[in-house]
Amino acid sequence: MKALVIEDTVTSATVVCQLLGKMGIESVHARDGASGIDVFKSARPDLILLDIVMPGLDGFEVAQRIRQLEKDGEWTPIIFLSARTSDADLERGIAVGGDDYLAKPVSEAVLKAKVRAMQRIAQMRYSLLVLTRKLDEANRDLTRLSSFDGLTGIANRRTFDTALSREWRRSARVGAPISLLVADVDCFKPFNDAYGHQVGDKCLKAVAQVLAGNSRRPADLVARYGGEEFAAVLPDTGEEGAAIVAEAMREAVEALAITHRYSTAGAVVTVSIGIATITPDRSDDGGFVSLLSRADKALYRAKHDGRNCWRLTNCNDLVAPQ
Ligand code: GH3
Ligand code: MG
Ligand code: MG
Ligand code: MG
Repeated sequence: MKALVIEDTVTSATVVCQLLGKMGIESVHARDGASGIDVFKSARPDLILLDIVMPGLDGFEVAQRIRQLEKDGEWTPIIFLSARTSDADLERGIAVGGDDYLAKPVSEAVLKAKVRAMQRIAQMRYSLLVLTRKLDEANRDLTRLSSFDGLTGIANRRTFDTALSREWRRSARVGAPISLLVADVDCFKPFNDAYGHQVGDKCLKAVAQVLAGNSRRPADLVARYGGEEFAAVLPDTGEEGAAIVAEAMREAVEALAITHRYSTAGAVVTVSIGIATITPDRSDDGGFVSLLSRADKALYRAKHDGRNCWRLTNCNDLVAPQ
């Protein structure tokens, strides 16, 4: 532990430094306020003993400046040293950022007791800081866990639902179209049955990465909606744009070339995609639910039409691509 003693009277400073030394505390002495502040900046002491009556800056001003120099969360205990211990002085000392008072001439027992009390507070403060840091970390982990899917690392359904509802409202406000894609891995049950669950998981990770990599705008969001089903929300995107994204996703999954000997849709793992596009109505706050069910219908059609393809719906009409 290191203490800074700011005191213009050399004899008093010497006594204080000696007493601190007896307690095993190393001390640095500054003879006036300005040099005390300089030493504070360079030596970063754990404790400051500060005289009040000094030429130049007085102790109150020094305390105030030191408090201003401390960054957020930093705190160095300041004990005033003074022969002046009127109520008004005491009040002012605490108001400018001091923590305690020590009357001169300094008594060894009182100095010891006060330094120990400050050490105890500093220790508690430090523990609190460590705890707060741990808590921050835990909170970050929790946010990550609650927003992202554990297997694939992309957004989870919860994040997707929040994004969809937010983007739905935004689209309604600005009168822009919004598109929803639902992608489902084709014949994934036979894939799992044939190659095993672990290979199935690896496949889902690869598909997730490819789907997420094919949404290009910052506001686009691709999520694992559940099992082997993925969903994407594409704000400011009409049918044509959504179909382009869906086709890119379909092609990219096919290009992964993951062998699937038990698929009815081809020799490799593929996805089918349902698309729903709408320009939301301002008065229809929960309309995104029907958008989801429309995308689902389109997906069903894509499955029905042989898989490894996309279909879109618009205002309840199912449309097949040209
Ligand atoms: P379709 O082409 O009609 O979509 O057929 P499908 O076999 O993919 O459809 P179904 O919904 O019957 O099967 C989905 C399968 O996905 C069931 C399960 O074996 C598998 N599955 C779901 N979640 C996971 C997962 O987290 N990991 C693995 N490995 N498999 C999963
Ligand atoms: Mg003095
Ligand atoms: Mg499914
Ligand atoms: Mg499937």
